[in-house]
Amino acid sequence: MTAARNDLRPSPVAPTIDLDRDGVQHGHLRLPYSRDDSAWGSVMIPICVVKNGAGPTAMLTGGNHGDEYEGPVALFDLARTLRAEEVSGRVFIVPAMNHPAFRAGTRTSPIDEGNLNRSFPGRPDGTVTEKIADYVTRHFVPLADVVLDFHSGGRTLDFLPYAAAHALADAAQERRCFDAVAAFGAPFSMRMIEINAVGMYDTIVEELGKVFVTTELRGGGTATAESAGIAKRGVRNLLKHAGILKGRPDKSESRWLDMPSSECFGFAEEEGLVEPLKDLGESVARGEVVARIHPVTRTGAAPAEHRVAIDGVLAARHFPGLVKIGDCLAVVATAGSRP
Ligand code: ZN
Repeated sequence: MTAARNDLRPSPVAPTIDLDRDGVQHGHLRLPYSRDDSAWGSVMIPICVVKNGAGPTAMLTGGNHGDEYEGPVALFDLARTLRAEEVSGRVFIVPAMNHPAFRAGTRTSPIDEGNLNRSFPGRPDGTVTEKIADYVTRHFVPLADVVLDFHSGGRTLDFLPYAAAHALADAAQERRCFDAVAAFGAPFSMRMIEINAVGMYDTIVEELGKVFVTTELRGGGTATAESAGIAKRGVRNLLKHAGILKGRPDKSESRWLDMPSSECFGFAEEEGLVEPLKDLGESVARGEVVARIHPVTRTGAAPAEHRVAIDGVLAARHFPGLVKIGDCLAVVATAGSRP
């Protein structure tokens, strides 16, 4: 894949700052976007580079989905407060990677409906969202030793707050990823599987052999004091673990969870009004009803019952009060141990 991608045309994206210069720089990734209200206009994605001499490079991103807020909160804060003299090496901070989606408060881009985290490795001659993915794939990931991409549930899901990595074919790389998850120090640490990993940033970064950490830190289209604090502490912990910041990670105890198979995901087979019978973090047993879905067009009709397929704890749930058929309704994780 990497060799073939070298044949692609140059990216139209240009940074307004020098990515190799020592010091703290605040600028943009400028992506030309000609449109009705701005003939030679651009999408301007904020970026901060903090560099101090030789050392590892960290790539930190939030706003891959535009309605997830812990990452942007932690990364705008880090960009404002991180001093060059604290750093050994280099930190790229992109608090809102899909900036058009972030500005709109939506998961996908209002420009092209692009879901950035299903658009990797992207295309230099594609949509705005595909151009962002292509630039990050070809110009940032190869420079990075460790990559942290913040996610949360967005407007439609709510999660237990966890940092996560995936099971990988390369055992040594997998161990480095889970060591980094442990260093992040979220209340929960997850060995995560994906419903469909095609097009994900995670997959591209992992295929390039990098240390990759992702998160799911609550959701519902907002952040809480607790979840923002987890994100702010976690990113500094990870930079300490990478040797970019001095000191040891400031960790409280983390509970390890596992997603053993696709049976952990539950999807609504009816539409209607959700009545939760279990909350996040509660134990559930295989076959147990964790939510009812009440029909909303008449009274007197029995609700549908949503049963979970495995024993475990409720790790994620649908957030809005109304559910559509096919929506992810509940995710169950099992007790795990540090891989
Ligand atoms: Zn996300």
